[in-house]
Formats: sequence, structure tokens, C-alpha cells
Amino acid sequence: MHPVPISEIEAAIRNVPDFPKPGIQFKDITPVLADGRLFGGVIDHLLEGVRPGSVDKVVGIDARGFIFAAAAAVKLGAGFVPVRKKGKLPFATHEQSYDLEYGSATVAVHVDAVQAGERVLLLDDLLATGGTASAAVSLLEKLGARIVGVNFVIELGFLDGRKRLGAHPVRALVRY
Ligand code: AMP
Repeated sequence: MHPVPISEIEAAIRNVPDFPKPGIQFKDITPVLADGRLFGGVIDHLLEGVRPGSVDKVVGIDARGFIFAAAAAVKLGAGFVPVRKKGKLPFATHEQSYDLEYGSATVAVHVDAVQAGERVLLLDDLLATGGTASAAVSLLEKLGARIVGVNFVIELGFLDGRKRLGAHPVRALVRY
């Protein structure tokens, strides 16, 4: 039962042309977050089919992924784990680099953030090329996590990002 239709969530996502650089249409989810009903609806949809007790950790990707993953973790009674940009986590980390259009980026996770065999749900706001999410998946696999799902609010389907996430189940609420 979903009191909030996905069409309402989609209608609240704001398109900002040419941000952060010319030619990029930024999908701004802050209007969704600012509406308590829509925010709650997004979390409900992201957790559709995920029973409390079926996930040990919800992992969010820096930075907007934290917002959804933290709310989802509380709702499931699971722990929250941040995958952060390199240089932000204070304790010992594993790091994974990935290619960007120009140059590369690196994400990191604490070495003890997930125990081997734990069931993990990975969340982020948006799947574009899949570079960020696949780097996060690599980190979680290094820790021995069992990835039960990789869920996004938004997927830019024309970029084929889900191809980079291997056999893991990928879901997105709104697809462009
Ligand atoms: P990618 O690694 O190409 O899949 O990019 C995904 C990351 O970049 C996500 O964490 C998004 O938050 C961000 N991102 C990429 N493209 C956009 C966009 N058009 N609008 C908003 N965020 C984006």
C-alpha cells in the first residue's frame, strides 16, 4: 500500500539546466525532501519488498544517498553505513577509484563498516553512468557483504549505468 503515487514524486523533482556545468540537466531532489509526505513516500517506495529484519546495513553514497539511506535504515531497524569521497572518513578505509568524463574519483568505506556475510542494501539518489555505484559495490564486495539490492530514486536510463552493476538487482523509482 503506497499512499504517495510515484507520479507525484516525479512531478516534484526539479530540472535545473546547465548545473553544475553547461549541458548537464541536474535532477534536484530537494523539493521532494522538503515535503514530508513525499519524503516518506520515497522511502516507502525505495523499501518496497524489503522486510524489516531482511537487511543488516543500509549503505548510502556521499552525499545525497546519505539522506535516503539514513531514513531507510531507521525504518528497517538496520544500521547505516556511509560510502564517502576519499579523505573524509577518519578510520582505516578501503578505497576504490573510477573514471569520470575527465579524470577520476575515489570513494572509501571504513574497513569495519560491514561484516562478511552481512546483508546490505545500497541506496543513492541517482544512477547516471553507474561509475559511483559500481565503485561502492566493489568496496562492499571487498568487505564480504551480501548485496541484496541497489536502489535509486532516479535512473538516467539512456546512460546504461545498470550494466555496470553486474548481476545485482537494481531498481529505480523514476526513469528518464
Ligand atoms: P554516475 O557515477 O555517473 O552514475 O553518477 C552518479 C552520481 O552523480 C550520483 O551520486 C548523483 O548524485 C550524481 N549525478 C550524476 N548526474 C546527475 C544529474 N543529472 N543530476 C543530479 N545528480 C547527478
